[in-house]
Amino acid sequence: MVTVGRNDRAVPSPRAISGARASGVAAPSGVAAPSGVAAPSGVAAPSGVAPLVTVAWEITRSCPLRCLHCRADAQVRRDPRELTLAEGQKLIGEAAAAGARVLVVTGGDPFARADVFDIVRSVTEHGMHAGLSPSATPRLTPAALDRAAKAGTGTVHLSLDGASEATHDSFRGVRGSFRRTLAAFELVRDRGMRLQVGTTVCRRTLPELQAIAEMLEGRVDAWTLFFLVPTGRAPALEALGAPEQSRVLHWLAGLRASFAVRSVEAPELRRVLADGRGAGHPPGGAGPPPSGVGVGDGRGFCFVSHVGDVCPSGFLQVPVGNVRERSLGYWYERAPLMRALREQARYGGRCGICEWWSLCGGSRARAWAVSGDPLAEDPACDYFPAASAPSASPEVPVPSG
Ligand code: SF4
Repeated sequence: MVTVGRNDRAVPSPRAISGARASGVAAPSGVAAPSGVAAPSGVAAPSGVAPLVTVAWEITRSCPLRCLHCRADAQVRRDPRELTLAEGQKLIGEAAAAGARVLVVTGGDPFARADVFDIVRSVTEHGMHAGLSPSATPRLTPAALDRAAKAGTGTVHLSLDGASEATHDSFRGVRGSFRRTLAAFELVRDRGMRLQVGTTVCRRTLPELQAIAEMLEGRVDAWTLFFLVPTGRAPALEALGAPEQSRVLHWLAGLRASFAVRSVEAPELRRVLADGRGAGHPPGGAGPPPSGVGVGDGRGFCFVSHVGDVCPSGFLQVPVGNVRERSLGYWYERAPLMRALREQARYGGRCGICEWWSLCGGSRARAWAVSGDPLAEDPACDYFPAASAPSASPEVPVPSG
């Protein structure tokens, strides 16, 4: 996840989405959503070893919503093969032992499990920050949020995929989801928990991003934008191409808002922020040199499915092992795919030669979804590394807005 940080100017006008210049500061903070937080500088190593920072555990796939782009392809009924509470508590202990500082309890709808509060309590008892991602269903009540707060939930993540009842509810597949989500905003913050709102970025939601940003002003702690990966129920045609994604990233980099802004499956935002000059410009010359190490799939982050499969992320569901067989730390540290994800020499295409790799690395989930190779270049990036042939390094002008 990439954090832009808090800004103090007004939200840019709608036309600014076509090309605000990069600005702001990337800062590590908060709870990770399905992939990546910025790592504390000096902690992660760029290859071979990358200390575990964040784990997301999908405690169930059960969810009554029928979201159009559901990563989990959620089901109404709970899977009898789900990890039990005892197995989950063992997993939580393994995450803490492996060094994780954040554990996100996700689904499906985590409130589909009656023991969700015991799970959250176990996370906090192990000294980790507990994130919770409930779905906007009738289970999302003041009483449930009371229990979540009492169990020690630090951050609640809610999804908002439209600026109106019509657009959000049609995306979520259930009427009433929009109103329930907005009502929960105040309930979460009144109980002292941080509120993080997530929005899927795709062709369908693109026209409403500006309006959503304005809706969130002064009401949330963080806005996380999930750049659609064509997996689960997500159709490939909904995903943004490289030029569109670049325009959104530049808009985000210039966004002035009261909340932190983060990207998931678009780590290129780190490059846009650090470079400060826009896509297509090689970093030599006036721009600052690449610095820091970004957390990403298998690089400080991993995902555990409802049945215990360990994957680099929730969008890159390529199991490397199962926590019923070996510990989470074992799979995270030793699985060949996890290790390959930490070695740039194993990467293909532009990501394999890119000077921004340590900070960015590209979306491994998108590379996998599009090419079948999680180590291929990120097809939604429009940057050409300095090591690529000059003829293949076109200057892509940044619109002045
Ligand atoms: S080429 Fe790969 S590593 Fe470089 S900025 Fe693009 S996505 Fe990131």
